Amino acid sequence: MRVAIIGGGAAGMMCATTINELNPEAEVFLIEKNESLGKKVIISGGGRCNVTTGIEDLKILLKKYPRGEKFLISAMHRFSPSAVYAWFEDHGVPLKCEEDLRVFPRSDQGKDVVGAFEKIFAHHKTKVLLKHIVKGIEQKNNEFIITIKDQPPLVADQVVLALGGQAYRHTGSTGDGYTLAESLGHHTTPLAASLNSFITEEKWPRAIAGLSFIKATIIAEGSKHFSFTGAFLFTHLGISGPAVFALSSLVAFEEYSPKKPLKIFIDLIPDISPEKFVTDLKQFMQENP
Ligand SMILES: Cc1cc2nc3c(=O)[nH]c(=O)nc-3n(C[C@H](O)[C@H](O)[C@H](O)COP(=O)(O)OP(=O)(O)OC[C@H]3O[C@@H](n4cnc5c(N)ncnc54)[C@H](O)[C@@H]3O)c2cc1C
Repeated sequence: MRVAIIGGGAAGMMCATTINELNPEAEVFLIEKNESLGKKVIISGGGRCNVTTGIEDLKILLKKYPRGEKFLISAMHRFSPSAVYAWFEDHGVPLKCEEDLRVFPRSDQGKDVVGAFEKIFAHHKTKVLLKHIVKGIEQKNNEFIITIKDQPPLVADQVVLALGGQAYRHTGSTGDGYTLAESLGHHTTPLAASLNSFITEEKWPRAIAGLSFIKATIIAEGSKHFSFTGAFLFTHLGISGPAVFALSSLVAFEEYSPKKPLKIFIDLIPDISPEKFVTDLKQFMQENP
């Protein structure tokens, strides 16, 4: 069997490895347009690549995905965070779980994650085709004919589209996957940015950029009331942090733009009522004149 995986990012590399391990006889082509594999993986997690989480209870973990909870149930059960942890350690990437339960390579180097895959491909039947840009796919008589820029076409029995989305386009994911999927008859759902920070219209947050809070409730007034509580920080452009990323996912399909900005409210002390806050503050001022 000849399998062509298009896109040598996180998904493509893991897919090629899994096929190698489950079916060593399969001939696997990993086709990547960049000059190297996993460009996005290398910059992820601030260059350290946060490979999984130390949260083992899947019910608790799934609750952390504001929109993806249901979609992820099956994947999380089939390849749980502890299985991911064991997988990387078995494949030569020692890991560490930090206090906040994020898991990183012990080396703090995202490139070691990509390096582990490169080692696997060197020993298996995966042919890594770098600087190969896929331009089209045609399905004919149970075969796929893949058109590659400035190269002869490649014929495969199975094709996996792992071309990423459109975020961080400079890493290679420029949306070609959607076009290729549609050309094969698939439908794509509407797209929206998600897991992003917000640029605020107000300029004052930049004066306190870097100020962070372990727990804040961020509320957005869109077509309905959206809110999320978690870690939060002010940035030189606006607001960011896990609570903001989660909120951005909830409002992903709301209509907002610089001309029609989203109204956001921030409660920096969500566990204390305004009345109690005033009482506590007065008491503090009396005790500390
Ligand atoms: C700044 C940042 C930090 C992140 N941090 C983390 C983190 O710490 N932990 C975490 O789990 N996730 C993190 N993520 C998310 C994670 O990086 C992505 O979910 C993941 O990389 C997606 O993998 P993918 O294989 O689907 O897509 P991609 O990694 O985008 O890979 C797609 C590949 O397809 C190639 N390609 C595209 N078009 C073609 C074509 N026509 N022909 C051939 N090849 C093509 C691209 O060059 C690219 O290499 C982060 C993302 C960003 C942007």
